[in-house]
Amino acid sequence: MASKELPFTREELEKIAASYNTPFHLYDEKGIRSFARAFKEAFSWNEGFVEYYAIKAAPNPYLMKILRQEGFGIDCSSLAELELAGRLGMRGDEIMFTSNDTPANEFVKARELGAIINLDDISHIGYLEKHAGIPETLCFRYNPGSLKEGNLIIGHPEEAKFGLTRDQMFEAYRIAREKGAVRFGIHTMVASNELDPDYFVETAEILFRMIHEISQKLGIRIEFANLGGGIGIPYHPAQQPVDLGRMSRGIRKAYDEIIVANHLEPLRLNFESGRAVTGPFGYLISRVIHVKDTYKKFAGLDASMANLMRPALYGAYHHITVMGKEEEKPLCRYDITGSLCENNDKFAIDRLLPVITPGDLLVIHDAGAHGHAMGFNYNGKLKSAELLLRENGEVVMIRRAETLDDYFSTIDFEGLETFYV
Ligand SMILES: *Cc1c(COP(=O)(O)O)cnc(C)c1O
Repeated sequence: MASKELPFTREELEKIAASYNTPFHLYDEKGIRSFARAFKEAFSWNEGFVEYYAIKAAPNPYLMKILRQEGFGIDCSSLAELELAGRLGMRGDEIMFTSNDTPANEFVKARELGAIINLDDISHIGYLEKHAGIPETLCFRYNPGSLKEGNLIIGHPEEAKFGLTRDQMFEAYRIAREKGAVRFGIHTMVASNELDPDYFVETAEILFRMIHEISQKLGIRIEFANLGGGIGIPYHPAQQPVDLGRMSRGIRKAYDEIIVANHLEPLRLNFESGRAVTGPFGYLISRVIHVKDTYKKFAGLDASMANLMRPALYGAYHHITVMGKEEEKPLCRYDITGSLCENNDKFAIDRLLPVITPGDLLVIHDAGAHGHAMGFNYNGKLKSAELLLRENGEVVMIRRAETLDDYFSTIDFEGLETFYV
């Protein structure tokens, strides 16, 4: 069985676990920075290239501050995410607001911050105008429908609730210009967790051709193309990460053949990836409380799907390392469970692992995106802490664990005293 590397030893992890109670999420700053640099480097041929980190993947301002230092912008899709960008001091072109079914107050907030607004529907032009006014720059989210097969996870574009149809796109730019917008971008996102670099090349070709058509039909020059998120990560050790160099070379070729050849330069490229940026560099650390042997063997952790719900939600694979037993043979088949009163509260089913005993520290890999962020409080489970492993080996807490006081803070217990006396 292939393995995955860890940026810490068992001794180091035991030390961290002694200072901060398990479970917790631990992010590796070095890994995040090196991916960020490789991503930027791959697209350095495109002047003005910006990756907007899709903050929903791990909405922690400390992580965002690191990524901002690396030159990343932020991709927001809710009021809280805009608020977070604002609190970091981010403004204007540093923020991409890609939302859908958007409430008026979010458009108002986005305008306040000067964010680039990416509209999900043609009817949103009038809605935006009414509630927040038309900004100088507007972007539209294209749904290519049957022109593009969606990947397995996102499904067929025609079934997706996102974006405008082909015909609506032309109409939308025309109306936006009429209403005063002067700078334009285009966006699409048709993949999720996609590992094939060629998929993104095809997506870029579709957008580039659309830019050409918009220019021909409307005389509108598109200044930036946002290729969305969806860059996958190798959750399974047998999988390979997306070859960013190959992806970039493919996109550059399409850029030369469609954009340069038709004098549509300069065109800035953007991504709004989340998963690939922090996913592989975050770990859920949990200790085994019980080992149970009934019709099957179960190892029960102090974490639950409240800390990481991807396995329970999508049947997703997350690799697991039993710390200190890396060299032992995986001789025993376990269901790795949490403590929720739900039988799907499992991190792995029938996973072959070394023999586990209570007290073992388990590392659940690739939990740095859609991990802590998806946490919830069912069964009164509290959200755990987020820690950052700095490049110098120091560990800092970047979000404390919830307490019972946090959990009960939305209930008026004084009101309860006089209720049904
Ligand atoms: C979720 C999302 C992203 C990020 O997707 P990843 O799979 O994390 O890269 C980007 N843009 C939009 C609009 C999204 O909804």
